[in-house]
Amino acid sequence: MGRKQKLRQEKRNIKNKVAATAAAEVTTAADATTDSTEDAIVYADAAKKQGTVEVLEKAEALENQFPKSDMYFQATADTDNITGKEQYELFKQGAKEHGCVHSMYLWGKTMLAHTPDGMLMPVHLALPWFLEGAIRGSSKCMMSLMWEVYFSKADRKADALQDYWGKITKKYHSGTSLVDSMKILKCSVTRKCVICSKTDTKTLTLQQCQGCSVYCYCGEGCQAIHWEERKHRNECKQVHILNKYHKPYAKEIRDAVIRGDKEIPSLEKLRYKLGLTRPQGEYDEFFEPTHNGNPFNPRDCLTGRDDGTLWVGSFPNSPIGTQS
Ligand SMILES: [Zn+2]
Ligand SMILES: [Zn+2]
Repeated sequence: MGRKQKLRQEKRNIKNKVAATAAAEVTTAADATTDSTEDAIVYADAAKKQGTVEVLEKAEALENQFPKSDMYFQATADTDNITGKEQYELFKQGAKEHGCVHSMYLWGKTMLAHTPDGMLMPVHLALPWFLEGAIRGSSKCMMSLMWEVYFSKADRKADALQDYWGKITKKYHSGTSLVDSMKILKCSVTRKCVICSKTDTKTLTLQQCQGCSVYCYCGEGCQAIHWEERKHRNECKQVHILNKYHKPYAKEIRDAVIRGDKEIPSLEKLRYKLGLTRPQGEYDEFFEPTHNGNPFNPRDCLTGRDDGTLWVGSFPNSPIGTQS
């Protein structure tokens, strides 16, 4: 198939999918947070307010600025004559060897769609792929990261990371109602102590975390519990890494990826700082449903290790340099 023909075919596929995807995305995102039915309701309400179709169409248009690898075309052009495994391998190759954000997004979605027996939805395995796409500027990866991986009103383990990506998303979605949903989230986070739910009174003014400015505390006791026992330290450190190594370079990286630059030093430094480049041998056990005989909850490792780096990486070598 010639390139123009491929593009036409792909356009048709996407056009047919947009409407169906809009509805499906809401369901998937709600499913991802099955911790409580309340989550699903909150998400569905937010999606209604946002006008999901409008948001997704805007995201689709922004996404199409990124180059598509041949593997992505092969994996999506003729889905009737390709096995799930073949498709998965193509996404993997497109992501690893060409830094193709479309492949990263669909690889992440594949991870969420196939939960191994005895395991909870493996959000921790989808995370590095959505994050790889998000740091390159993919709006769809950012949205999946926020709504399908981090968001949970029940455990609120990753509100600060969701807040970070919300702010980055705003840059690309200014003028759409998606931005309003970020405000709703921020309000629910900041008005009460994250540990004991106390609110501001005449005699008590809640204090914000100085690191991420997202969570509020009634006092040092609750802050210490959140920092140590609830591992906010890990999350706050990851937000710090993103603020230092992603935020100032976000536009530069995105432009370079869209141009198809072979070497993007700021991106490689960021991937290393986040732990995306960690060798797989270091985290093999995260592909198993149990740890030391105990059931393992993927949400326990959403916010990173003590130094803020990821529990599970993506690929050690950069796409740059491995291309022949
Ligand atoms: Zn408190
Ligand atoms: Zn913090």
